[in-house]
Amino acid sequence: MANRVFNFNPGPATLPLDVLKTVQQELLDYKGTGMSVMEISHRSAEFDEINDTCIALFKEILELDDSCHVLFMGGGASTQFAMVPMNFLPKGGTAAYVDTGSWSSKAIKEAKLLGNVHLAGSSKESKYDHIPDKLDIPGDAAYLHLTSNNTIYGTQYQAYPDTGGVPLVCDMSSDIASRRWDFNKFDLIYAGAQKNLGPAGVTVVIIKQTMLDKCAEGNPTMFNYRTHAEKKSLYNTPPAFPIYIVKVVLEWVKTQGGLHAVEKANMAKKERIYQLMDQHPDYFRGTVQPGSRSWMNITMRLPSEDLEKKFIAEAKTAGMVGLKGHRSVGGIRVSLYNAMPLEGAEKLARFMEEFKKKN
Ligand SMILES: *Cc1c(COP(=O)(O)O)cnc(C)c1O
Repeated sequence: MANRVFNFNPGPATLPLDVLKTVQQELLDYKGTGMSVMEISHRSAEFDEINDTCIALFKEILELDDSCHVLFMGGGASTQFAMVPMNFLPKGGTAAYVDTGSWSSKAIKEAKLLGNVHLAGSSKESKYDHIPDKLDIPGDAAYLHLTSNNTIYGTQYQAYPDTGGVPLVCDMSSDIASRRWDFNKFDLIYAGAQKNLGPAGVTVVIIKQTMLDKCAEGNPTMFNYRTHAEKKSLYNTPPAFPIYIVKVVLEWVKTQGGLHAVEKANMAKKERIYQLMDQHPDYFRGTVQPGSRSWMNITMRLPSEDLEKKFIAEAKTAGMVGLKGHRSVGGIRVSLYNAMPLEGAEKLARFMEEFKKKN
């Protein structure tokens, strides 16, 4: 489509054009109902099918054990920052957290309201420029909480720690379904959909039955994971339209060839940009240590703030938007989620080369 741009926004982010077209095509009359998915009952057979298919696609694409529950909730990943300790951090107990940036810090803040937090690792001292490689995990911690990809700072775990039996909880908001992992290593995964899975409004929670068994008693109904697991996320009205779009996105992932193909594409995209940065390290100044580089959000500074402004403005004129770094860190941020085509990364790389030559 002629007026579509390459959208490098960090979230809400670009969606595959094919997904938008499917949604558009089905918008006014969903499968012969004469209604939009926005207008049908969440108790209808049509929605049941959407819900079941979405759950099944998560299990298939992430190769999850059948005993996992896939939940669709509201409130964003930020609500999960509180729900995790509400359910798993007993009064007087301790949970271990790794602080790798703003999102981890926010999760820690919520846990501290409810119990003790043991800092198992942190890269705060070096401005979050890496993922700590040695963690100190107390054997009696209620769980270890990680943020897999740091959307703002541009770091990402390239391997996950062995927790020695301590349950592993992970905020995967900005890199879920972007590459292959053994997702069954995690006892609980949560992710806001608006980066790699769909639109804002739904948060996916993947929880093992063994973890579900540990949920605290006595929490208000909506703040108890068991409620959502027992009712297949239909205790109340779920964010039905976002769930539907996530389903269409996962169908698209499958058509691409699943995580294997998505990983290959994501690798090619990030390499295109990092290679260029490595060729001109004094100009495109990466802000993170090479071993912790994110595949999803590439962060850099240019030689001056004026050049950064010019870069962002000229990229926009050339049809590439969303390249401004987070307001807390500045600079340039290139978000390369699943839906960004290789063509977009290549166009940006060419633009970067030209920009450097001229400036
Ligand atoms: C965007 C983001 C969040 C916040 O998600 P909301 O859905 O806005 O609450 C949390 N964690 C990470 C890693 C993120 O990228």
